[in-house]
Amino acid sequence: MRKNLKTFIVSLCMMLLAGCASAPVRDDRFSVVATNFAGYDLVRAVAGDLVNINMLVRPGTETHSFEPTPQNIIDISECGLFVYTGGESDEWVESILDSVNAGLNTFRMMDSVQLYEEEIREGMTVTGNGEEEEEMDEHVWTSPVNAMILVRDICDALCRLDPANSDSYRRNAEAYTGKLEALDQQFRSIIADAERREIIVADRFPFLYFIREYGLDYYAAYPGCANDTEPSAQTVAFLIDKVKEDKIPAVFHIELSSANMCESISEQTGAACLLLNAVHNVTDEDFKNGTTYIDLMEHNAEVLRQALN
Ligand SMILES: [Zn+2]
Repeated sequence: MRKNLKTFIVSLCMMLLAGCASAPVRDDRFSVVATNFAGYDLVRAVAGDLVNINMLVRPGTETHSFEPTPQNIIDISECGLFVYTGGESDEWVESILDSVNAGLNTFRMMDSVQLYEEEIREGMTVTGNGEEEEEMDEHVWTSPVNAMILVRDICDALCRLDPANSDSYRRNAEAYTGKLEALDQQFRSIIADAERREIIVADRFPFLYFIREYGLDYYAAYPGCANDTEPSAQTVAFLIDKVKEDKIPAVFHIELSSANMCESISEQTGAACLLLNAVHNVTDEDFKNGTTYIDLMEHNAEVLRQALN
């Protein structure tokens, strides 16, 4: 009996030691989980190192086909605030929100701003029978004016949930809003001085909130970002005609896309093929370098200047 007890105590101690050795370093900071890079970066702008932020999509990967792992779901259920867009690419969120704890704090980006319906423009390749439900476009963060609203609301949520750091959150949010205002002014002056108001995106079109904010017109290969598909020959021909007709100097593709269509239109028209960031995600290298929403948008300002003049 006594021997058994001793063995039991020894093995219990070994289990505890093993548990201690493999346990991660405890992080007492408030924790946030964000689905994509846009949410991650805006939280980082407000909170800096004061919170532990976990981005679910891996850098360099496509965000629309993201599927959560069991570990992701555990991380969401244990976090202090879960930030998601609320659109088609995180449809999976609704089903897990029902099953994780009812007290989970969530921030749905689409709840903060005025929404627009996804649009189908002339020339687009549309899959399905065209009778799908009308979807609200999820790419709300692509307008810097919306980004200011998101920063304000994210700041309010963090201040409420982690009041000890609220002074820092408010200061950071104010500083970042100043940068967003400068960015917004930069876009307005580029567009005010531009020769044309039309952009061609030989790719999916996640820029609806952006172009509506600045009064631009556009043609693109597909609406929104819902389906990864091959463009029809008609779509490619339509976009080539538009580039020639309107003497468009540069055609765009979006981040982490193959850019094949953009390059082939470029070859056939002489227009440049350039990257316009929609800030769904960043490359692994950019993630390691700490590239921000503002950095990506400043790149956009440069390429827009080329494409509009
Ligand atoms: Zn998208």
